[in-house]
Amino acid sequence: MKPQSDRKSAAGWQLEHSYAGLPEALHTRAVPVPVARPGLAVFNEQLALELGLDPVALAGESGAEIFAGNRLPEGAEPIAQAYAGHQFGHFTNLGDGRALLLGEQVAPDGSRFDLQLKGAGRTPYSRRGDGRAALGPMLREYVLSEALHALGIPTTRSLAVATTGEEVAREELLPGAVLTRIASSHIRVGTFEYAAALGDRALLGSLVDYTLGRHYADSLDAENRALALLEGVLERQAKLVAQWAGVGFVHGVMNTDNMAVSGETIDYGPCAFLDAYDPATVFSSIDRGGRYAFGNQPAIAHWNLTRLAEALVPLLHTDQAKAVEMAERALARFPERYEFFYAGRLRSKLGLRRAEEGDVALAQELLGSMHSSGADFTNTFADLTRSVESGELLDLSVQGGSAVQPWQAKWRVRLGREPAEKAEVMALMRSANPVVIPRNHRVEEALAAAGEGDFTAMHRLLAVLARPFEAGPENEAYRVGPMAGGEPYRTFCGT
Ligand code: AMP
Ligand code: MG
Repeated sequence: MKPQSDRKSAAGWQLEHSYAGLPEALHTRAVPVPVARPGLAVFNEQLALELGLDPVALAGESGAEIFAGNRLPEGAEPIAQAYAGHQFGHFTNLGDGRALLLGEQVAPDGSRFDLQLKGAGRTPYSRRGDGRAALGPMLREYVLSEALHALGIPTTRSLAVATTGEEVAREELLPGAVLTRIASSHIRVGTFEYAAALGDRALLGSLVDYTLGRHYADSLDAENRALALLEGVLERQAKLVAQWAGVGFVHGVMNTDNMAVSGETIDYGPCAFLDAYDPATVFSSIDRGGRYAFGNQPAIAHWNLTRLAEALVPLLHTDQAKAVEMAERALARFPERYEFFYAGRLRSKLGLRRAEEGDVALAQELLGSMHSSGADFTNTFADLTRSVESGELLDLSVQGGSAVQPWQAKWRVRLGREPAEKAEVMALMRSANPVVIPRNHRVEEALAAAGEGDFTAMHRLLAVLARPFEAGPENEAYRVGPMAGGEPYRTFCGT
C-alpha cells in the first residue's frame, strides 16, 4: 500500500493507516452508511487547527458531509476495530458496532491521532444494534470530553457533531447524530482481551509491539515488552483516575472496553461531575450495584488492569506460573501508585507544594466533613482558594456545616509551614481547583435547547467550560450547584 503522507489535501487531511497494518483478525473494512440530511451542529475550530485541518474548508456543507459520513475525507480507508470487554464484570466480544476509524491524522507536529466517526451506521460488529447514535448523547460526549481537556485531564477530543436528518429509535424517537472523535488511539484493555481470546501468541505480540510504538516508545527496547506495557498502562491509569478524583468526575461505565491503554479518558456515556461530595455517588441509571461509583473508580481501574495482565500472561513468560507471578507483582503496585497521584492532587488543591506526613489525613478530614454536611465539592475548594486570596477565613457553613471552621485553622497552620509565597500558593490552588465544571443541570439545559435546534446555550456552555479556572462575571451563573432537595441526578445509557 502506497503511503498517503505525501498527499496533502486542501482541507489538510493527512491520513495514515498504521493500525490497518495489524493482523486482519483485529479489524474489518466497513464504510459509513450515508444519512438523509447532513448538518453541522458543532465544530471545534481550535482542535481542527491543532490537527492541521482548515476550519474554513470544513465549517460549511463540505464539513457536514464529511462529519456525517456521507463523504470520505481524502485518504480515508475506514475500518471497524475488533475488541472484547468485561461489561459490568462479564466478558463479551464487542467491536466497533457503530463507529469507524477513518484513519490516523498526522498533525503538523508529527503526532498521530485516530479520526473516528461514532454513529456512522452498522458494521460487522453491530450485533443487534442500529449502528447509530442520538444527538443528545453525542453532544454530551462533546461537552464533557472538551471540559476534561480544558481541566488538563487526558481525554479523547471531539472535533464535530453532525446531525443526520434521521431519527433513531431508543425508548422514544430521537434526532440522530454522528460524533467525530479524536483519540491518541482507540486501543482498549478490551482490545488485548480480544487478541488473547484468539489464542494467537504472535498476533498478541504484534499488538503489544504496535501499542508500545504508539504510546510507550521508550519501552520498545525493554527486556520484557509485555511487562513494560502493563507497567506503563498501570502508571497512566493510576494517574488518570486520581485526576478524575481531583475534580469529582464519575466516568460511569468503566467496562474494560471503555479503558484506553493510552491513558486517555474514553467512551463518555453516563458520566457526570459530583455536586455534593459523596464517594458513593452513582449517576448511571443502570449501575444499580454502584460498581462504578465515584469512590470505587480506583478499585475498578485495578480490576480492569488485572484483566489486561491476564491477557498478557502468554507473553510475560513461557512458564505460566512465573508469568502469573510477574503479573501479580506488577499489579500489586497499583494502590501505592494511585495513592501517590491522589495525594499529589489533594496537596495541590490545598495549596501545598511540599509533601508532609499528615497532608493526606488533613485533606481526608476536610472531605469527611464535606461528606457529612453535603458540601459542594467544586465550590468548597474554590472558596478555599478565595479565602487565601482574601486572607480571611471564609464562612464555608453555607456549603454545609461549621465542622469546616476548626479545620480551616489547622490548614492555615500547615500552610504556614510552606516555604512558598502567598502568590505561589494561590497559583497552585487556582490550577487545581476549577471554578466551573459541567454542572449537570447546565448540560441538560444546553442539550434540551439543542434538541429543539437552538445551540445558543450549548455554545455559551462550551465557551465557559474552555476556561474552567478563571472566575469572572461571565461564568458566575455556571458556578451554582443544583437547588438543594432536588431529585438525585441520573444519566441514562440509552445512547
Ligand atoms: P458503548 O456503550 O458505547 O461503550 O458500547 C458498547 C458496545 O456496544 C460497543 O461494542 C458498541 O460498538 C456497541 N454499540 C453501542 N450502541 C450501538 C448501536 N446503536 N449499534 C451498534 N452497536 C452499538
Ligand atoms: Mg464503549
